[in-house]
Parts: sequence; structure tokens; C-alpha cells
Amino acid sequence: MISSMTRREARSYIRQALIDDRAVNRVDESAGFYLTQKCPLRCDHCYIDSHPNRTERMEQRELLAWIDELAAIPSVKYLVFSGGEAFLEREMLAEALARAASYDFFTTVITSAYWARDPAIARREVERLAGLSHLIVSVDQPHEAFVPLPHVRNAVLAAKEFGVLSTVGIGMYASEHADAAYRQELIGLIRVYCGQPDRVVSQQFELVGRGARQLSPARLELSGQFPGGTCPIMSPVVDTDGSVYTCCGIGPPVRRDDPHLVGNAREEALGAILQRQQADWLLQLLRTHGPVEVARQAVEAGLESQLGGRYESGGVCALCHDVLSKPAIVAASRQALQDRKLRREIAVRRFAIYGEEQMLKLLEVDATEQTPLAARSESPSKEVLQAGVPP
Ligand code: SF4
Repeated sequence: MISSMTRREARSYIRQALIDDRAVNRVDESAGFYLTQKCPLRCDHCYIDSHPNRTERMEQRELLAWIDELAAIPSVKYLVFSGGEAFLEREMLAEALARAASYDFFTTVITSAYWARDPAIARREVERLAGLSHLIVSVDQPHEAFVPLPHVRNAVLAAKEFGVLSTVGIGMYASEHADAAYRQELIGLIRVYCGQPDRVVSQQFELVGRGARQLSPARLELSGQFPGGTCPIMSPVVDTDGSVYTCCGIGPPVRRDDPHLVGNAREEALGAILQRQQADWLLQLLRTHGPVEVARQAVEAGLESQLGGRYESGGVCALCHDVLSKPAIVAASRQALQDRKLRREIAVRRFAIYGEEQMLKLLEVDATEQTPLAARSESPSKEVLQAGVPP
């Protein structure tokens, strides 16, 4: 939808879509950056194992150049800056937001609000971030051990004062997240205590990174069932060393052959890396069928013993990490993905769910032995669309 808009048009569209709780989840429309791996906190559930002693940080010169590169890709409308804690790199963050704003990008910064110690400080911090469209503050028990709720409230009120969309993101254990009454009550309380943000969203903790080691075992409800569900958000993220990951749930160390690592922006143009991610059948399978399909392929290939064995209900990303970190399972999945029927299913689902035509076009190229795309119509043919769309 927003692919055909100018960035200026897309800015107001994205803002309203977020307020209305409509998904903005095409893979080609957004990208993100980890400004630093350092964080003043050490939350138990951190996906990427950030803590105060991490030293990796992005070079400002590189960050600005990468924003320039993304600005040359018309489909990209939305940039996300996170870490670690992005506010530890205040100068770089302010420069990056200013550069992004000069291209009319919609911009989001994700933070714990550790810096919003009082209302005046919070106002000062937000005011200096001209070009910021959207502030997401993370709140949950692990964060609260370090950052009291009044800090979150100060950050939200400051965002509102400067016309910045505000979201509070709540994390919780899977069993709590599955309990709709509990979840709604918590969201209501957070609204009241955190200054009535524009949005409150919730998600369950994933057993990924430090979370896999440190979340309370007593509160985990593990079973032998593979969690169903599709990849919740695949949006490329550039790490401090130029590594480009499929999403913001990935951090080093990542094996060089792990499909979550799609390239390095120091070695290759970001446009080429993003194209590769969008054309990768295995990565797109995660979005159309979910990691559960890769797990099924592993079982069929006799690789069940390589799977983690026990998962939380809804723990899609934990299963994704499990299957994609095993080279034999990745090889089995890539082999299964040679099947033209499965490819057609992925292509059609991708078009039906996300409106993305890329793989339908790839199928047409396959079918016509690499007929150049330029010689073909822009829309997928009826023949290619004659395949099952998921219920
Ligand atoms: S399912 Fe995999 S690719 Fe998708 S957000 Fe989770 S970890 Fe990332």
C-alpha cells in the first residue's frame, strides 16, 4: 500500500495505521539500525544480550551513509533506531533522525526511558530529536527492575508535548499473554500510570538470547508442540559492524551460514542485500507458513533429534532461532523448497497476506526459463494466481 506513496504521504499514513492498530508489515518498506550494543540495563529477557559492558557502537559516518542508501530505495518509508539503548548515542541519534527527516522517512526510536528521570529532562531529551516521528518505550517486569514507571510516564508526556507518536510496549510471559483478561487489565493500568500513550501493545517474551537462559523457568510452560504462527515482523536491521539481520530479534554471535544473517552493508550495497532477503524462499516461508513448517521439514528429513524439543506456545521466534541455527535443517529446508508446488504456495500466500508480488514474478521467470522481467507484465498472471490461498 505505502510502496506507491511518496515518503511524505506515507508518514501520515503510517502514523494513522499505527494508531488504528493496522499492521505495517511489508518486508520492503522498513529497515532498522542498532546504534550500539551497549545498554545501561541488563534485563533478563534481552534478545541480543545487551548490557553496560558491551562496547560495540555504530560509526556515525557509516550510519548516515546507510540512511542515504536507503533513501535511494523508493519502497523504504520507515526507519527504526534501537540497540542496546539508542539514547546512549544521543549525538549520533539526533544526527541520524535529522538525516532521515530530510528524506521524509517515518522514524521510530525504541528505548527503556532510563534517561527520563524527571519531566524537564525528558522534555529536553525529546526536544533535541527533531525528525523523531514515534517513540516506543518498553515496559515489563525485567525493565521495571531498573527503570521505574514514572520515567516511562515522563517520556510519554514529553513525546506528546512535541507531537511525537507514543507507544508503550509491554512484555509478559506466554501464559500471561494468552490470558486475555489479565492482558487487558495490565494494558489499562499501564495506560493510566504511563501518561495515556497513543498506543499500548503487548507481546510475549521469547526464549531467545539472554531470555533463553535467564527468564524464570518456573513461569515458563514448555511443551513438545511446535509453536504455530508466522514470522511477526521481518524487517532488515543493520548492526554496528554492518551485519544485516532479517529482524530486530537477532544479535551476534550469528553463524555466517545462518539465514538470519543476510549480508554486510560494509561489503555490499544495502539495496542488493535487501533484494536478496526478499527473494529468499526460506526466509519468505517463515512469513507465509511460519518456522513450524521448517520444523516439519526437519522431522521429515529425519532431523528431529536436532530440534530443541520443548517450546512455549506462541514462541515463534524461539523456534525460528532453533531451526535456522542448524545447518543440516537449513539444508533440508532449502532442498524441500525446490518443490514447485511449495514455491507456488509461498508466492500466493505472500501476495494474499502482504500484497507482495515478487515471488509470483520469480515463478513466472522460472516457468519461462529466465525470460527477462522487463519483457513481462507488471502484474502476476492468472495462471500463477491459480493456487491455493490459505484459509
Ligand atoms: S520469526 Fe524469525 S525472522 Fe521472524 S521475527 Fe522471529 S526471529 Fe525474526
